[in-house]
Amino acid sequence: MSIADNWRAVRSRVDAACDRAGRPRHEVTLVAVSKLHPASAVREAAAAGATDFGENYAQELAAKRADCGDVRWHFIGRLQRNKAKLVAGQVALVHAVDTVELAAELGKRAQGIQPILLAVNLGGEETKSGIDEANALSIARAIKPIANIRLDGLMTMPPPAEDPEASRPYFERLRTLRDQLAASIGPLPVLSMGMSGDFEVAIACGATHVRIGTAIFGARPQP
Ligand SMILES: *Cc1c(COP(=O)(O)O)cnc(C)c1O
Repeated sequence: MSIADNWRAVRSRVDAACDRAGRPRHEVTLVAVSKLHPASAVREAAAAGATDFGENYAQELAAKRADCGDVRWHFIGRLQRNKAKLVAGQVALVHAVDTVELAAELGKRAQGIQPILLAVNLGGEETKSGIDEANALSIARAIKPIANIRLDGLMTMPPPAEDPEASRPYFERLRTLRDQLAASIGPLPVLSMGMSGDFEVAIACGATHVRIGTAIFGARPQP
């Protein structure tokens, strides 16, 4: 299977999951996660119809942007504050903001409005980035007034599991948390959740952005 074939197969599965959930297909953005794959892989997926691409590393994003033509980029990785200048204003959405300070730095570096999401660590694993659920409201409140930053919603990454259904409780918790925050601070339309192994469950739970790498590009080369 080529990258183009894989992309079309994943796109059909995303569409079918939207149909089953009774959701319009345009509600779900398929972000093709191209981290560690070459620019040629991005171009191949784009030629097949992919429009949105996700990267995890600021320098890799900066290098690839020049070689991939007119596509929309998403920064989905953990971002260090000193790399914010490589990302701010260059991507449609920063998915994994985990501190008020990072949001402030992105706002300072952005030209115009930079949409962002808060990454929430629902798995409680020490190695994972993301804010604790208990701090979400105070952090969201602190981010709200930052100039040039628009907080659009939440992102999460459940602990890895073989069974896609194992992710369902995490996706449901993220949606509930989003609803609670939105009741206090206003609309948060975006839920970035679901990867190659569990995106259909995520769409059933209300995902608006699914981040899919392996199912489109195959196994990743080691960094
Ligand atoms: C790498 C990555 C993905 C893609 O994972 P796959 O299992 O390859 O689909 C999604 N989200 C984040 C945050 C990632 O780092």
